[in-house]
Amino acid sequence: MPTTAQIVDPKAVADRIIAGGKITMEEAEAFIALEQWSDILALAAQATRIREKFTGGEVDLCALVNAKSGLCSEDCGFCSQSARYETDVSTYPMMSVEQILERARQAKSFGAKRFCIVAANRGLSDKDLPLLCEAVRRVKAEVGIEPECSLGFLTEKQLLALKAAGMTRYNHNLETSESHFEKVCTTHTYRERLETMRMVKRNGVETCCGGILGLGESRQQRLELAFELAELDVTCAPINVLNPRPGTPMEENTPPSPQEVVKTIAVFRFILPKAKLELGGGREVNLRDFQSMAFLAGANSLIIGGYLTTHGRQPGQDMKMLRDLGFTV
Ligand code: SF4
Repeated sequence: MPTTAQIVDPKAVADRIIAGGKITMEEAEAFIALEQWSDILALAAQATRIREKFTGGEVDLCALVNAKSGLCSEDCGFCSQSARYETDVSTYPMMSVEQILERARQAKSFGAKRFCIVAANRGLSDKDLPLLCEAVRRVKAEVGIEPECSLGFLTEKQLLALKAAGMTRYNHNLETSESHFEKVCTTHTYRERLETMRMVKRNGVETCCGGILGLGESRQQRLELAFELAELDVTCAPINVLNPRPGTPMEENTPPSPQEVVKTIAVFRFILPKAKLELGGGREVNLRDFQSMAFLAGANSLIIGGYLTTHGRQPGQDMKMLRDLGFTV
């Protein structure tokens, strides 16, 4: 007797998506349950068809600067920047505009097209707003790279000030599904994160919103996250994979295998056919030799040049991988 996983045909679902339809939760459940590489590769091939149809060979390359590090009031269990955990993360206040510009120039020199100014905060303080607006304005005007921000919760007034300065995209990840969120963070709610992204979208700023695989969530909860992102109609969905940080409550978590990550990316592509699916933090340690497989399973965006508290591999290696895959870089 074939299982549901074996009887849902990825090509038939992809044909429907390419014709403007959607995948159902039941179909996504069948796909995420696949265990054999032969089935996962067939799924990845159809995810690639969907990616080629909607976004062609374009790839987004985004670099980050951790403009303010550590001492965050929140208790996100994966995060070494929380003031509640004893970690080896370096702590420093908001960088100067010149320091941020310097990092933007570096990002541009290694090929990044987008530059995200990130601060470890529950939310943006009005005190930091003028500096950040100036940084956004000058990154765009003087460096010529697309500025985006990730500054935690923010008010509509703050968002509009950043938008007026030239910010085109705002990042605030949901991190996981609503049903799992309280196991990840207790100092703010999933709804607060969701409302922030709805406000960003309402105000005509592109949304960058995704999560982290490996926070102890089930496969079903990964699907819940993906369908929530589809509901939000996000422009870009970063998919990070936990790189357990010493001193955090999740330091002993076992991250998902490369096979599980590749399959999850493929399923996310079916659920988010037009989004930028961005491979983010944790890819080097968790995907290892399978990083290019993620791009053969529907990914089409990459964080390059390192992450907030950990190093990445050399940007030149990533550029070579993307060219070899046939992306336009
Ligand atoms: S993920 Fe963000 S809000 Fe949560 S502890 Fe880290 S810096 Fe703070």
